[in-house]
Amino acid sequence: PLQALNDASLLKTQALINGEWVSGKSTFAVHDPATGALLAEVANLGESDTEAAIAAANNAWGPWRSKPAKERAAILLRWQQLLIKHADDLARIMTAEQGKPLAEAKGEVSYGASFIDWFAEEGKRVYGETIPTTDAGKRYLVLKQSIGVCAAITPWNFPIAMITRKVAPALAAGCPVVIKPAEATPLSALAVAELAQRAGMPAGVLNVLTADSQQSIAIGKVLCASDVVRHLSFTGSTEVGRILMQQCAPTIKKLSLELGGNAPFIVFDDADLDSAAEGALISKYRNAGQTCVCANRIYVQAGVYDAFLEKLATKVAGLKLGNGFDAGVTVGPLIEPAAVEKVETHVADALALGARLVTGGKRAEGLGAQFYEPTILADASQQMLCAREETFGPVAPVFRFQTEADAIALANSTEFGLASYFYSRDIGRIFRVGEALEYGMVGINTGLISTAEVPFGGVKQSGLGREGGRQGIEDYVEAKYLCLGDI
Ligand code: ADP
Repeated sequence: PLQALNDASLLKTQALINGEWVSGKSTFAVHDPATGALLAEVANLGESDTEAAIAAANNAWGPWRSKPAKERAAILLRWQQLLIKHADDLARIMTAEQGKPLAEAKGEVSYGASFIDWFAEEGKRVYGETIPTTDAGKRYLVLKQSIGVCAAITPWNFPIAMITRKVAPALAAGCPVVIKPAEATPLSALAVAELAQRAGMPAGVLNVLTADSQQSIAIGKVLCASDVVRHLSFTGSTEVGRILMQQCAPTIKKLSLELGGNAPFIVFDDADLDSAAEGALISKYRNAGQTCVCANRIYVQAGVYDAFLEKLATKVAGLKLGNGFDAGVTVGPLIEPAAVEKVETHVADALALGARLVTGGKRAEGLGAQFYEPTILADASQQMLCAREETFGPVAPVFRFQTEADAIALANSTEFGLASYFYSRDIGRIFRVGEALEYGMVGINTGLISTAEVPFGGVKQSGLGREGGRQGIEDYVEAKYLCLGDI
């Protein structure tokens, strides 16, 4: 699939340190999850490369932060325009290494690009403050200054957007970055870095360290332990988030963490059921169920349970599983064999505990080993694994509930608190439930909530901080108080 790129020079296999493409001492293989085919051998970097990238970023910090925000924004906007110009190639690279349908990959390129122009503009509005004095001889001022070298460790499910969502606010605020993309999807990260180079990003301002899973751990340790790195932003599992948080404790590093979710999707008996079924379909099966905001538990009020299930099953029958490059495909492969095994474990556990299989429930026949059929499980219950853990696959367990209070209690009975969704047409209920859900984000009568202009993030063990929106740049600046005496 990568032979057909319009601009073959977007296919980079070396890492980027201080504006130079570097090979490292070894390489690691990147495979197509749909076919298992080898796509590329990519530079496998390590600890000394990480030190070099941190040093390069630190050297670049002074000149970068001294530029007016408007000049940084001009470079960022050129970068954003290059992403849009090369959207077709970027989408091809993404589908090849990540598996998502080509139309979804194109959607991600424009979503990813949208963080760049949003934050290029926000960077111009990092306002300080003057505070009314309480002492006639003094004046109080607050400056907002760039925090310093920032590290970003990103996942494979959104190979471009999870990078731009972290890197664009850092760069706009005047911070250089060291990016460690996921081992499954380095090619998208490198293509985007190549476009940053073409946009005129100064050497050292944006560095990309590619590595396999083992070296990623080593690189992570160096980034966390570094005194120079002032901020770490991570998107991935709660388990790895905890490790990184511990590793960052000695240097008291600022952290932004976007971790796991266990999103409830509640359908009340006053909901528009067609709209709810459509929302559930999009929220659940997008990216083959591999997003941290995917509906994980679908709670349906008893009076509309059967009707909703029937509507959802009809919609799921219209999904097309297959290679993301094939026309009409809406659900691609899972990222790796372990992901398929996790889905199989969740489904087997649910069936053993009394769930009823409505559709799917097995690997697809005639496709590669990593394709799992879009699945619906009825009569799901709280003791099942799929109620407690994020499945991260195309499985929709549907639970029955009786009252609004029950739905809220069930939805909140998790250590996670990222996205939640509910469908209702009752204005009182919309406010009551919207306020009662212990989540960072609530989709009401919609299954799609992400956009660059809003704060994305979780409460409880789903993370720290917010990305996107006006809030997304705050982690990258420090408030400095100036006290002027002798006035
Ligand atoms: P996912 O569940 O999305 O696979 P992970 O949390 O395993 O998420 O991985 C997300 C990112 O974190 C990837 O870039 C991966 O290489 C990196 N990573 C995984 N384990 C560690 C670790 N111990 N230290 C640093 N980075 C890690």
